[in-house]
Amino acid sequence: MEKQDLIVTYGTDAAAMTRQVLDKADLASMISDGNAKIGIKPNLVVAKPHNSGATTSPVMVEAVLRYLREHGFKQLLILEGSWVGDSTKKAFSVSGIEEAAEKYGVPLLDTKDDAYCRVQAGPMEMEISKTALDLDFIINMPVLKGHCQTKITGALKNLKGCMSDREKRHFHLLGLHRPIAYLNTVLKSGFILMDGLCGDLDFEEGGNPVPMNRIIGGVDPVLVDSYVAEAMGYSPEEIEYIKIAHELGVGSCDIIHANRIVLHHDHVLVRPLYSRKVQLLSQAIVEKEACSACYANLIQALARLQDKHLLVHFKQQPIFIGQGFKGKTGDGVGCGACTQGFRCSVPGCPPAATTILHVLLQEIGRKSAFPF
Ligand code: SF4
Repeated sequence: MEKQDLIVTYGTDAAAMTRQVLDKADLASMISDGNAKIGIKPNLVVAKPHNSGATTSPVMVEAVLRYLREHGFKQLLILEGSWVGDSTKKAFSVSGIEEAAEKYGVPLLDTKDDAYCRVQAGPMEMEISKTALDLDFIINMPVLKGHCQTKITGALKNLKGCMSDREKRHFHLLGLHRPIAYLNTVLKSGFILMDGLCGDLDFEEGGNPVPMNRIIGGVDPVLVDSYVAEAMGYSPEEIEYIKIAHELGVGSCDIIHANRIVLHHDHVLVRPLYSRKVQLLSQAIVEKEACSACYANLIQALARLQDKHLLVHFKQQPIFIGQGFKGKTGDGVGCGACTQGFRCSVPGCPPAATTILHVLLQEIGRKSAFPF
């Protein structure tokens, strides 16, 4: 697998999708040594189940363990340190990852209990889990979701769970962005398997999950996080830690030239299981048999419009989306190839959140005297 490759698959069968991505990436050939110490790093920032939008799917973790065992890897470890104030052990249990680990005889490490090494990362000194530093290969399994301070959170920030609580507090004091980027210069992700099934709209602790029905694989954490930014309606340059990590040579934020390998398109229809916050955004949508991934991208774009206080423009003139609008015409705005008969239609199947946002801003500009 090349650095510029991004493997994406859509669907709802987490186990099958995980396997597809691992097979395509040929993960086993990246590690090669059967005695390598392999660390699997999920995101268990809080003790909540996966459907809260906060934590990594246990089904994905189990599929990774199965794959590694089948390929003869013996020294596996799942490691995590939840955020300051929550219990990692409880998170292992509540998330279902403890059960998956027991099934494959894989130990769990709460990094809060580990010994730490003080490591120089550029101009900063950081307290990092000794076990994490001793690993030969890290499989980083973050969740595609929002974050109240950094806008998004993904692969680069997920490694924060390998530090002491004292260092986590220090990172927050320093504003997160720069330390996250520097952390990734000393602790490297060998492979990133991003859980994009059902992350939170804007908070890392969950509560407003948006089913996005996708899993992403890559070897460049900066590129994978740039995909996350795009999926949430941001350009990578808007996320400061992505920009800094790119400048430090951790990876590339050139999402435009990424080689996207889409394994499976999915047309699972959207299900009305959304939180109140997401329902408020959906008031600007008229949906008829919309695919879940397409609907989720529109929700993310509308959330960005709301950030700019522009959502009001689509309260009276909502946006049409879904296969039910195929072959239909209309004077309004449509989202996705199914609505290409509409006066204004966002291209793509599904269109990216950034593309949707761009078209919606143009539409607002068209109607007002001040184009964006
Ligand atoms: S454009 Fe239509 S078919 Fe394509 S993802 Fe959207 S709703 Fe589904």
